[in-house]
Amino acid sequence: GSVTLVQELKKECVKHDILDEIEVIQTGCFGLCELGPVVIVYPEGTFYSRVAIEDIAEMVEEHLVKGRVLDRLVYTEKGDGHHPLSISELGFFKKQRRIALANCGVINPEDIDEYIGFDGYLALEKVLTTMTAQEVIDEVKASGLRGRGGGGFPTGLKWQFAHNAVSPDGVKYVACNADEGDPGAFMDRSVLEGDPHAIVEAMSIAGYAVGAQKGYVYVRAEYPIAVHRLQIAIDEAKEYGILGNNVFGTDFCFDLEIRLGAGAFVCGEETALMNSVEGKRGEPRPRPPFPANKGLFERPTVLNNVETYANIPKIILNGAAWFASVGTEKSKGTKVFALGGKINNTGLLEIPMGTTLREIIYEIGGGIPNGKEFKAAQTGGPSGGCLPASLLDTKIDYDNLIAAGSMMGSGGLIVMDEDNCMVDIAHFFLEFTQDESCGKCPPCRIGTKRMLEILEDICGGKGQEGDIEKLQELAEGIKSSALCGLGQTAPNPVLSTIHFFRDEYEAHIRDKK
Ligand code: SF4
Repeated sequence: GSVTLVQELKKECVKHDILDEIEVIQTGCFGLCELGPVVIVYPEGTFYSRVAIEDIAEMVEEHLVKGRVLDRLVYTEKGDGHHPLSISELGFFKKQRRIALANCGVINPEDIDEYIGFDGYLALEKVLTTMTAQEVIDEVKASGLRGRGGGGFPTGLKWQFAHNAVSPDGVKYVACNADEGDPGAFMDRSVLEGDPHAIVEAMSIAGYAVGAQKGYVYVRAEYPIAVHRLQIAIDEAKEYGILGNNVFGTDFCFDLEIRLGAGAFVCGEETALMNSVEGKRGEPRPRPPFPANKGLFERPTVLNNVETYANIPKIILNGAAWFASVGTEKSKGTKVFALGGKINNTGLLEIPMGTTLREIIYEIGGGIPNGKEFKAAQTGGPSGGCLPASLLDTKIDYDNLIAAGSMMGSGGLIVMDEDNCMVDIAHFFLEFTQDESCGKCPPCRIGTKRMLEILEDICGGKGQEGDIEKLQELAEGIKSSALCGLGQTAPNPVLSTIHFFRDEYEAHIRDKK
């Protein structure tokens, strides 16, 4: 509803003849989706939540014309009475640290001048005019940044491999994976919608570091606002001479192009994505060769996801040591999560690595609705696992999540309460991956189908003794023999729910319901 709210705000401002003094700006998502649509009045930051079209006339007259805060629309947190809260005082943000999302919900993403006003493109200027390519790579390595798309591979090392790789004709590429397909995930979408220039800047920096002249952003076509704003950002950057030839008066030349994904989950896998960019069927390729040596069009290629790139300008500007001071020993910086499911504050959050699951669920997320008990949290989407209440004090980072039987994944975090059946949850995720299997290799194509049939039997009251063991056997076989990450991780939700909630599987089989 925000588009009509903006129109109405502007109309009312015109009516009161105050558009010279007040600028109405539409931003990207600032995170607290649960309270949307929101209107924030600057400079003081008064935060109006769940604003309806009927509220606008009164808001403009009372606040913008007469300078009186409209109490009935100001969001108040439980226990805080009617004290008007600015966004920085909201409990939702208190434990957050916004690096990748710093500009989201703050700037107008369709205006390059606003990005520049928030130090935009200073990092690119810095690398082009004062740093060698190797110095840029060393800085990214020293920051400890790891891939935010799920794998957690060290970003600087990936850049080093592509930098070192020899291209037969000197052509190299950088690419951005914005094919976010996990159920419940909307991190990349929010960054592209809220701060698209950060991706343009970061990819240019990556291009300089590895010696690439061209970049591709692979975005799902189901994200029309993200695509629209990214295209505006690319066009503006070209107009300002930031993309194109001789950027900042140097001999660096770099161009960016958007490629639209057509809805296949497997195209988020890096080699399938590259096939798709090349116009081929989106199926994974065997590795080696790795993309750093033979990626897009068989040339050395660096591929990172949106959130990974969003950290790069900040690392270059503030230094590797600054970034590495946030997070845990082996997982530096922050992580963006899309929080959904049975949680009060559905939304987008960015926490320092090392924040506990309990802090996310109860302090940032505001707890479970309707006084229900927390049962589990699914991290890592269809590739991840479910963490039970006994692991609420797990400090979130790459290694701890794997040790707990799940994984970071790209950042979907779905909360389940006491009413959720964990066998149903496992069934949901496996049905998704089974449907999205590209069919290239038998363990994934056939194995996930057999697993799904067993799960359907169990959920439908036709489960047999021995089914749990069959599921485990099939799962281990698929994990060790599938060609790509989709198949290798597809059994994870089943295995983790069997591990932590075996009694629910047994109850289905025993009670035949
Ligand atoms: Fe395709 Fe699945 Fe094999 Fe990956 S593991 S190549 S998605 S069939």
